[in-house]
Amino acid sequence: MRITVAPSAGFCFGVRRAIKTALDTARQGFRVEMLGDIVHNEDVVRQVEAAGVRKVDALGDGRGKTLLIRAHGASKHIVADAQRRGYSIVDATCPMVKEIHTIVDDFYTRGLRVIIIGDGDHEEVQGIRGQIEAPVTIIDSAENIPWEELKGVDRAGVVVQSTQKAENVQAIVNALKPHFKELEVCNTICKATTTRQQEIKTLPKACNVVLVIGSRSSANTRRLYEIARELNPRSHWIQSKDDIDLAWFESAATVGITAGASTPQGTIDAVVGFLEKCGHF
Ligand code: SF4
Repeated sequence: MRITVAPSAGFCFGVRRAIKTALDTARQGFRVEMLGDIVHNEDVVRQVEAAGVRKVDALGDGRGKTLLIRAHGASKHIVADAQRRGYSIVDATCPMVKEIHTIVDDFYTRGLRVIIIGDGDHEEVQGIRGQIEAPVTIIDSAENIPWEELKGVDRAGVVVQSTQKAENVQAIVNALKPHFKELEVCNTICKATTTRQQEIKTLPKACNVVLVIGSRSSANTRRLYEIARELNPRSHWIQSKDDIDLAWFESAATVGITAGASTPQGTIDAVVGFLEKCGHF
């Protein structure tokens, strides 16, 4: 019986950086607030809150306070509103997401219609959309392209939510291409996501059972799970060791483990430790 943990499992560079920024800012004694969760993981949110960062649903009086912009970024409107209210800003937006913001600005300046491939209700996509005042088209699948919205548009620029599935992006771009005179595509899936998605293409084939660890609210964990499940029906999405059902491992010789970009190493270690302790491995 063998356990293989994917080398890329767990925190990506952007998440690690955002958590460090949050903890450092709180340590300096500032009154820090964050709008929503710093990253999509409940354990991390608890850790950051315990350090003194307050999670809020809406901006209030910001005098004497610091607003922490989380890894997914925020719209220009939110940042400007916070500054008007007196907050000072600490920006923990992942540099990869910042780069998407710059590209969108550039498309806008050059008169291209901005198209975002991503989940419309995800904070990263809302933050990208909120970089410009012009209309933006969001597409989540090739079957779901809002052609009405794009009527009369012949020049467009495409950016991609950093955690999208590469195959989904390709299918959407293929469907869009014939409809535009000029279509500039910037594949902004980040390196951390690409590495994970490549690893998850081999792990499920090499292992009898696959565990994908991460919060139910984590988009990149969901996509890892979807890829794993397509390749190996004995794939399971768990949030922690407590979700494990030992019946999954019946007659299994190998188990592969991966985890979303916002899953702490401690959660991964606990899963491995649990499997080792229960004697199956
Ligand atoms: S998944 Fe990619 S874009 Fe998102 S925080 Fe991590 S490195 Fe940055």
